[in-house]
Amino acid sequence: MTRTVCKDGFSAYLRAWEARIGSFLEIDEEAVSKAARSHGSAGASGGGPLAGLPFGVKDNVAVAGMRLSCGSRMLDGFVSPYSATAVARLVAAGAAPVGKTNMDEFGMGSSTDTSAYGRTNNPWDVSRVAGGSSGGSAAAVAAGLVPFALGSDTGGSVRQPASFCGVVGLKPTNGAVSRFGLVAYASSLETIGVLADSAARARAVFEAMRGADPLDQTSRDRPDGVPGARAGTGERAGARIIGVLSPEAAARALAGSPGDGASGDGTPLLEPEVAAAFEEAKERMRSLGYRLEELELPSLAYASAAYYTIALAEASANLARFDGVRYGRRPAGAPNPEALVEGARAAGFGDEVRLRILLGTFALRAGFQDRYYLRAQRARAGIRRDFERALAGRDAVLMPVYPTRAFGRGAEAPSPFAQKAADLFTCCANLAGLPALAFPTGVSGGLPVGVQLVGAAFGEDALLDAAEEYGEAYPTGRPDGYEEYWT
Ligand code: GLN
Repeated sequence: MTRTVCKDGFSAYLRAWEARIGSFLEIDEEAVSKAARSHGSAGASGGGPLAGLPFGVKDNVAVAGMRLSCGSRMLDGFVSPYSATAVARLVAAGAAPVGKTNMDEFGMGSSTDTSAYGRTNNPWDVSRVAGGSSGGSAAAVAAGLVPFALGSDTGGSVRQPASFCGVVGLKPTNGAVSRFGLVAYASSLETIGVLADSAARARAVFEAMRGADPLDQTSRDRPDGVPGARAGTGERAGARIIGVLSPEAAARALAGSPGDGASGDGTPLLEPEVAAAFEEAKERMRSLGYRLEELELPSLAYASAAYYTIALAEASANLARFDGVRYGRRPAGAPNPEALVEGARAAGFGDEVRLRILLGTFALRAGFQDRYYLRAQRARAGIRRDFERALAGRDAVLMPVYPTRAFGRGAEAPSPFAQKAADLFTCCANLAGLPALAFPTGVSGGLPVGVQLVGAAFGEDALLDAAEEYGEAYPTGRPDGYEEYWT
């Protein structure tokens, strides 16, 4: 049951949760407890919506003086000498980074189980994963340890864990938030994103972080002509028309022929609870006065394959810097430079990372580029065109986030291949460079379910407006044991 408690109990609250979920790799307990004590007390929080708020930072985003391990043994003991621009801007807005959150190694995964530093459990059911790769950030927010946390989203790593943990997850437009200080996995796909306890909070965080940064030449301000925030008028700017990618349309895209809500091999594309929640979300959007229009997204069939081809190709180049010389732990002794690099990489990288570097290198090999990388780029262009069409005259596209709710471990976990295939709904927005917002629609069988809205470039406000309206009209619950410290 949610309840508001005496603010002095925060340290005990934090410790009890962390013993069960393990969301932080490093945390300044005193700083966050102090923030909990002073939050909401008279005079303590003047100066904007973020003043005095503590936040968690995924361990692939730099915070000066804190670890920066990316969940990898390779960077064990590395402390960042500087802060990411996104972090610096939040600090300038009065917020304080209080710790680093667990993640899949270098952002590669959907469970946070590929971290070299142990697991993060889902606050709704600790036998299940928090999702990934920003699982630590999602779990920390879901448990109420911080009101928001930063994550990174290359193919869904903010939205999928947000959906697994019942919090809001915003993946901004490519370039809307500076990537300076984000350790690169797949540069053309990824952005720093926000996990927050409400859409309003996500908006405040995004507003503080966004905009051109001289340290990242791919970052930019919102171009003129894109409707901005509703600026407290109560007016929502958009057309109030939302396109819907129904599970049936998704199955048709995958099968390449008229379908019945099932994927090509006869198994349903969505877990029944997720399908039911999606239908409910549609009803509720209608009740809020949105006009819903069903649409098709034929290129969805190639999304996951194109995403993994491009992401792994970029990863194989980006991770070349971890050679034990420029970055990474150096082996104790090596007879020559090659052996040094080999030793460092063999000892530093986990299995999933090694697999992905090998696959990425393979896809880029001379003579193979036509077959893999260039085809993936063409599929990427197709996805971009499909979304351009889908968004013409509409505020957003409503889609599932992930085919399942939070999954268990061992025999209960989908295979690594199935986990990759399941990224089809999230990776589209990364391939197309568009903003996407996951928000909770309800709780089914004790586990949260989310949906996502994908919008036009720099159209975050339309997505946030809809999610805010939805959250006000249909508030979802919090996990058992959650206490309200940050309202
Ligand atoms: N599951 C995807 C992957 O493993 C998403 C990763 C991400 O967004 N960082 O690549």
